[in-house]
Amino acid sequence: MSVLSQHMVDKHGRHMRKLRISLLDACNLRCLYCMPERPVFMPQKDWASAKDLVHITRNLVALGIEEVRLTGGEPLMRRDFMEIVDELSTLPVQKFGLTTNALLLAPYLPLLQHTKLQQLNISLDSLDAENFMRITRRDAFETVMDAIFTAKTRGFAIKINAVIMKGVNDHELPAFVEWSATHDIPVRFLEVMNIGVMKSQFQERFLSAFDIKTMLEADYQFSRLNDKTDSTSRNFLVSNGAQIGFITSESNPFCTGCSRLRLTPKGQIRPCLFMQEGIDLKSLASEDYPEVLATIIAMKPIGRIPHQPQPMYQIGG
Ligand code: SAM
Ligand code: SF4
Repeated sequence: MSVLSQHMVDKHGRHMRKLRISLLDACNLRCLYCMPERPVFMPQKDWASAKDLVHITRNLVALGIEEVRLTGGEPLMRRDFMEIVDELSTLPVQKFGLTTNALLLAPYLPLLQHTKLQQLNISLDSLDAENFMRITRRDAFETVMDAIFTAKTRGFAIKINAVIMKGVNDHELPAFVEWSATHDIPVRFLEVMNIGVMKSQFQERFLSAFDIKTMLEADYQFSRLNDKTDSTSRNFLVSNGAQIGFITSESNPFCTGCSRLRLTPKGQIRPCLFMQEGIDLKSLASEDYPEVLATIIAMKPIGRIPHQPQPMYQIGG
């Protein structure tokens, strides 16, 4: 570890090497587990500008951030998305990724191909057009599927994120395992989190990764793959050739290995998805970053905080 990156190590030995940047809270889908039907989004004037985001990220990378991921809301809805990507591509990061619902992705792919942004995590909670519409409240299945296959053909590293809910899409679990093997695309099953709109239906909808894996083990064998120590996903090679991961945010949160800091759409750095406290970095001078980061990193909890009043899409999932 370089001398500079020591700024990023907390007293528990966790190295803050990943930055998740939420570009906005708005979205073009209305996933049942994420948003109400009529959400109220923040005014655009409150978003940190592309210039501010790049300045902030440059400073954080200089102090030890190694991986950057853009998220939201739906990051592709920002008009200055490519400006942000092009500028961030000049930074010396090991990985640059995007979490997206892929609705607007296809036209961006030829542009993204020439940037450092090569890791695409695409949310897809159903392989059935009708169920997709029920979950996302929008008729966009074909567009999303086309974008996934075009991105694959163009050589991007793709992972699918599927939030699994009891009685909503758990009947599709074997179909996802077959789809992963057929298309050679890793699928990660996410436990639905007790946050935002999910709070009222969590007990009814929650299905643990353990239960999901047990259901699938009736038909498939799972061999554990070697994951990085700060990986949020436990990954397996399945007997049919699929690559399946489990993200156990509720049943086994990964706080003790967490290496993430978060930047909100307003340019505030936060130590944890479950904390509302943060510090505005927009007008912070570069020389003040080490002290502010030390404060933020010291605030990072070592275990799961039970309540987060803000919904996920406002902080950046
Ligand atoms: N709009 C983009 C997307 O859907 O990929 C990026 C933002 S979204 C908030 C990021 C991730 O958070 C998605 O994979 C989504 O499925 C997940 N997510 C949102 N609400 C969730 C919840 N209550 N439980 C588990 N995952 C959730
Ligand atoms: Fe939008 Fe992503 Fe939330 Fe779905 S999960 S409503 S795509 S922000």
